[in-house]
Amino acid sequence: MSPDLQAQMKDLADAVRLHRYRYYVLDQPTVSDAEYDALEKELRDLEAAHPDLADPNSPTRRVGAPPVESFEKVRHRTPLYSLDNAYTDEDLEAWYARVLKASDQQPVALVGEIKVDGLSLALTYEQRNLVLAVTRGDGEVGEDVTENARTIVDIPLTLPGSAPDLVEVRGEVFLSRVRWEELNRARDAKGEPRFANPRNAASGTMKLLDSREVAARRLQFLPWQWVGEQDHFEAMERLVTWGFAAMPERMEGAGLGRVREFLERVGGRREGLGFDLDGVVLKVRSHELQQRLGFTDRAPRWAIAYKFPATQATTTVLGITWQVGRTGKLTPVAELEAVDVAGSTVRRATLHNADELARLGLRVGSRVFIEKGGDVIPKVVSLVPGEEGDGPLPEIPVACPVCAGPVGKDDDAEVAIRCLNPECPAKLAARLLHFGSRVALDIEGMGDALVEQLVASQRFRQPWEVLGLLDDAMQGTAYLAGLERMAEKSAQNLMAALDAARTKPLARWLHALGIPMVGARTAELLAEAYQDLESLWSATEDQLQAVEEVGPKVAGAVRAFRDLHPDLPDHLAALGVAPVAPPPVDRSALPLAGQIAVVTGTLPTFSREEAEALLKRLGAKVSSSVSPKTTVLVAGEKAGSKLAKAEALAIPVRDEAWLRAQGGS
Ligand code: AMP
Ligand code: ZN
Repeated sequence: MSPDLQAQMKDLADAVRLHRYRYYVLDQPTVSDAEYDALEKELRDLEAAHPDLADPNSPTRRVGAPPVESFEKVRHRTPLYSLDNAYTDEDLEAWYARVLKASDQQPVALVGEIKVDGLSLALTYEQRNLVLAVTRGDGEVGEDVTENARTIVDIPLTLPGSAPDLVEVRGEVFLSRVRWEELNRARDAKGEPRFANPRNAASGTMKLLDSREVAARRLQFLPWQWVGEQDHFEAMERLVTWGFAAMPERMEGAGLGRVREFLERVGGRREGLGFDLDGVVLKVRSHELQQRLGFTDRAPRWAIAYKFPATQATTTVLGITWQVGRTGKLTPVAELEAVDVAGSTVRRATLHNADELARLGLRVGSRVFIEKGGDVIPKVVSLVPGEEGDGPLPEIPVACPVCAGPVGKDDDAEVAIRCLNPECPAKLAARLLHFGSRVALDIEGMGDALVEQLVASQRFRQPWEVLGLLDDAMQGTAYLAGLERMAEKSAQNLMAALDAARTKPLARWLHALGIPMVGARTAELLAEAYQDLESLWSATEDQLQAVEEVGPKVAGAVRAFRDLHPDLPDHLAALGVAPVAPPPVDRSALPLAGQIAVVTGTLPTFSREEAEALLKRLGAKVSSSVSPKTTVLVAGEKAGSKLAKAEALAIPVRDEAWLRAQGGS
């Protein structure tokens, strides 16, 4: 044995350890990745050449060691207890009353911690070296998973010289949600079953016999106990100075008021922590009082777990239906046997799209894990292994469940399938919103809330039918005023806006109709060419194609729309609408004639499209980039390089108020 070599290896190991600490814990590396890799390789090579000198806690062990055949059983020095649970404030009060009694009604210092949803692990350090890591097992006897534990970067392999000779630290091994999702994606790709939740994934990982695979999964560790005589709070502080991770949320103090605040805080931040927690744990801080309180046969009396309502449950799929969204997108939905999740009854869960459905292999009769987090709609996470069901696999619809129209993909790159029928009633809401939008007929007040109700009333099949409300017989004002969130006054305003829409120019009407492929610009060109709807409706495809910028696709779309609504001109006329193109204007007389304008940044109320449309109506040409020819820049908030460029070129910069003033509003 060469003492020189051994010293050299130890120095190398120390250096690697230090750099890892700076990199992973402090996030402040002081060497490049390449330099670090070189150091680690040197150490690894020496260890390979001199296995007898290799330290089992060498930092190279982080990447795992050759597989073992099975795990040894190990008896815990003291049993790993479970925790008693509290679900309500009364439960907490009852626990606190018992604690107060043991302290002769003296205020009791408490510590609050999060309850990480993972698996417990007991770490033993002898002479400041990690020698043993044991799973919980049945609480008395667990399994020796030391090699696996060595790969977890949050677990220090050695402790500083100030640490006692024997230290036992207990804590939770877990996987972040991001890593869990990555892992599931990789398993999907390999056709392997998914892990239902991060906890299953973490425990599956700790059971792997090959620690090199464990290393790749990047588990985390959070300590929650230093077994011994210490004050709990100080003990946890000390562990952090030794390189253990700190509880991301923690409370220290006396009284249930603080505890309730803590519960609320953690409840609110729960989603943002990046890993699953199933509650918080409250502990008596003083070791002396802990001893006085002691244990029941299964749990310490000096601690209690306050559980949040579970966000996962298992249930059975009763059916699979397809929902058609506003844009015609078809989403598969699992109809479920009712089950309680996070305090509410869940009967349906989204399956996102057909690919997801196929990937899950879901059928009627499958048992599934469902999950509900925060405010999101419940989703199906995975099948319960062994209970996949044997019903037929669901079929992907070939017809829209709402209108029976054809379905397909807009383009091949898209995952979602859509109803291709532009007139599908499911799309009415989106069409109505467009119809009333500022770029179309500018019907003030026709927002989401109103449109939702108009659609629900089933009185309208086409957007323009809302103008029927102006018919005396329909008593439009009374009808509108009767809707939710509509007062008499706003109903009257809306009626006035509908009335004003009747006389809007043809171009706006053409745009508002929602003819596929006809945007504001094409609508303008068509309006200019045909002057009224009647003439446009009688044009052939060839004639349409003669219009500037109109190709076969647009011409085809206009014709198809006309064939769906051959009577539209008459129909609109009956509603008091006979849109015409305004007589050609002398553009040189417009307020912004001769100007070349660019819009940038976020304007207070106009969208970019609206501002550009207004500029054009006022006679300006609109360009997308600033050049020496630009005569005005309309800038809003967060304007970037265009503003800088305009300033450099001494081009006048204006705001939305200026633009409105030009338009006379
Ligand atoms: P239970 O399994 O519901 O009886 O809860 C007890 C388990 O919660 C313990 O065995 C630990 O694995 C785990 N746990 C998670 N976070 C903590 C914590 N902060 N303090 C104590 N135990 C915790
Ligand atoms: Zn449809």
